[in-house]
Amino acid sequence: MDFNLTEQQQMFKNSVKKFAEQELTPLVDTMDKQNNFPHEIRPKLAAMNLYGIPFDPKYGGAGADHASLALALEEFAKILAAMAIHLQLQHVVNDRFNKLATEAQKKQWMPAICEAKKVGCFGFTEPDTGSNPKMIKTVAKEVKDGYIINGAKRFITNAPWADVMCVFAKLEGDISLFFVETNRKGFSTGPKMDKLGLRGTDLSDVFFEDVHVPKDHLMGGKGGKFDALKDAMTIGKLCLSAQCVGLMQASLEEAIKYSMHRMHFDEPIFNLQAIHWLLAEMASRLEAARWLTYRAAFLKDQGQDTIKDMAITKLFVTSTAVDVCRWGMQVHGAYGISKEYKIERLFRDAKMYELLEGTSEIQRELIVKRLPR
Ligand SMILES: Cc1cc2nc3c(=O)[nH]c(=O)nc-3n(C[C@H](O)[C@H](O)[C@H](O)COP(=O)(O)OP(=O)(O)OC[C@H]3O[C@@H](n4cnc5c(N)ncnc54)[C@H](O)[C@@H]3O)c2cc1C
Repeated sequence: MDFNLTEQQQMFKNSVKKFAEQELTPLVDTMDKQNNFPHEIRPKLAAMNLYGIPFDPKYGGAGADHASLALALEEFAKILAAMAIHLQLQHVVNDRFNKLATEAQKKQWMPAICEAKKVGCFGFTEPDTGSNPKMIKTVAKEVKDGYIINGAKRFITNAPWADVMCVFAKLEGDISLFFVETNRKGFSTGPKMDKLGLRGTDLSDVFFEDVHVPKDHLMGGKGGKFDALKDAMTIGKLCLSAQCVGLMQASLEEAIKYSMHRMHFDEPIFNLQAIHWLLAEMASRLEAARWLTYRAAFLKDQGQDTIKDMAITKLFVTSTAVDVCRWGMQVHGAYGISKEYKIERLFRDAKMYELLEGTSEIQRELIVKRLPR
């Protein structure tokens, strides 16, 4: 067992930390207050090769490990979690191309996404279901020269301006995966959603009305893609957990800073035992969450089946992040609910993660099904 980051991982973490502090701090208002995505950041993310961290350099990636991906997302979320979600989605889409596309398609799409020339989105959630992908109603019908897709997807991150979408649809009664260029006839998106947290990520509905795609847009053959969805979600869960670690770290730092300046009876509230208890709980939960997340990244890099471990990690880390950010808010007293203080946004953002990539209830189901008995 080695609980140290490698020199390379540490150097990478430091450079992303510096980048996030310099480049993301000025974007907080655009994303959180105005609910807009700042497109000018994309070439800068690409210049650092942050869209391609774990992918092969021959497809435009940086050839690093999943631990590095987790470290980058942690540093991003400390400053602006919504931007981390944007980065995560690009990884999830590129990972689908990496695992299921033809060599020519990989060469067409992966470098373009890594270089910020193209943006991807990923869709399984629908108006009638998010937790049970087997209930999806989007359908694909085979025709002579390809497939015709009809249906609707809901809560799709990046959808309003994505160039390509990886979309799950039922083909001959079984779940298949397609990629669809968003400029195809019949593809449209709904209005951008106004939401509690992770604002500025641009979430919308997507509609397919007789969208035609060629045969080679079916990824990995017909049917059996419930497993591909679970696999995509394990990457997503690692990304989300890393972001929650960043949110918790930021909450702890904000709570310490506030408590050292807020005076009560001529001394900072930091000296009160009640505040010690809150800070100590926050610090211990953060540490447990961080190591669970790094371990999940380590297992992913070993190529192990991580479905149960990712579910355990996601369940613990996302619910812990809500607790830790709530305690950080409590340290701030009534100022914690003021938009003048960063903790207010951290708390709103933390709540979002309990819903993404499968709710906490679904993680519990996944875990229990895999317990030895
Ligand atoms: C910020 C954000 C970004 C998102 N981005 C994307 C995206 O890019 N692409 C995408 O496809 N989706 C995306 N989603 C959708 C997200 O994955 C779904 O919202 C999520 O899977 C839950 O689905 P639902 O909201 O339909 O809840 P439902 O499935 O309707 O569940 C409602 C409640 O019932 C519980 N429940 C349902 N079934 C079970 C069960 N079998 N056992 C126990 N409890 C159960 C759930 O836990 C929940 O509490 C995003 C969501 C958010 C909030």
